[in-house]
Amino acid sequence: MPSLSVPPPKCLQKPLVVPHRHMFGPGPSNVPPRILEAGANPVIGHMHPEIFEIMSDIKSGIQYMFQTQNKMTLAVSGTGHTAMECAIFNAVEPGDNVLAAVNGIWGERAAEMAERIGARVNTIVAPPGGYINNADIEKALSKHRPVLFFLAHGESSTGVLHPLDGIGQLCHKYNCLFLVDSVASIGGTPLYMDQQEIDILYTGSQKVLNAPPGTAPISFSERACQKILSRRTKPVSFFLDLSWLANYWGCDGKPTRVYHHTGPVTAFYSLRESLAVLTEEGLENCWERHHTVAEYFHAGLESMGLKLFVKEKQARLPTVTTIVAPHGYDWKEITSYIMKTHNLEISGGLGPSVGLVLRVGLMGCNSSKANVDMVLAALRDALKHCHRSKV
Ligand code: PMP
Repeated sequence: MPSLSVPPPKCLQKPLVVPHRHMFGPGPSNVPPRILEAGANPVIGHMHPEIFEIMSDIKSGIQYMFQTQNKMTLAVSGTGHTAMECAIFNAVEPGDNVLAAVNGIWGERAAEMAERIGARVNTIVAPPGGYINNADIEKALSKHRPVLFFLAHGESSTGVLHPLDGIGQLCHKYNCLFLVDSVASIGGTPLYMDQQEIDILYTGSQKVLNAPPGTAPISFSERACQKILSRRTKPVSFFLDLSWLANYWGCDGKPTRVYHHTGPVTAFYSLRESLAVLTEEGLENCWERHHTVAEYFHAGLESMGLKLFVKEKQARLPTVTTIVAPHGYDWKEITSYIMKTHNLEISGGLGPSVGLVLRVGLMGCNSSKANVDMVLAALRDALKHCHRSKV
């Protein structure tokens, strides 16, 4: 045998060290011990009957959280981006027209994903902090006749909660599927997939659900399934092909399941536990708590003389708050000071909001008045100690 040219790395001979930290940025959120412990259960086979039962529980939990009866409801193995690509890669074929509402980074990314698979993409754009009204959406639907319309319910880059009412109905008037990203919003504010006629809805595990990142709930309406199952071409991704995923998740009514990929079973345990926590609190109570805490937070920020980036109260996300970057300060110095001094993560802007805002996420178990007080104290301290220019 030849001798090894790469020696064992010295760094791996030291123990793993991970600090405890207040995770009050736009995600991931803190994972409470109960959910962490669920993930520490033994690994068993991804095709064992006990895992299928856990997957079935997860499916019921997602149906509850999404308020849907859709049979085609599952969790993709991956993060929010995986669910975005799962939605777009399955619902769109090369040459299809796609329309994306862009009022932050998520609309931009959805448009890019659709472009990459050869769709013809049009966008309707609102400035950061704004959203698009139903009349403009209808105009664009009637002009471009897309097969799919993308909208981010919670635009975490700008802190906007996009109104949803009436948009599903408009999409269906123009024979278009309605795709909604609820990664940053679901569980923190009302959303009714069936009643709001949403065809494809997805989220991530690491925000309001307080599970580790790595699984992404997604659901497809009957109308979406019909379009997907009558495709002329196969989806570009084998891993995200809905017909395979539907079989693995027991959504296709077939008596046997065939190996597709090795499901991340420990991530399924955590996801199931996080859905159990949501079920115990009750969806409406969870919405209400996030709204009450957000109002308390927003009032506290304003009383400190800080300004909220989203002017219209109704359009403020209760989960992720955007604060106008304080005048005269370097936002990076503020976020690093708070991390160093308070062991607390808040973040700057993302995409079109870079340099314009600070972002604070209080999601799931992190959404409490005590945590608001902690963030306000950290911000007050940072504004006192960080460098402020006179101009
Ligand atoms: N959509 C929205 C609204 C998000 O906030 C995020 C995560 N910040 C994503 C999609 C992508 O999720 P992930 O980072 O889990 O891939």
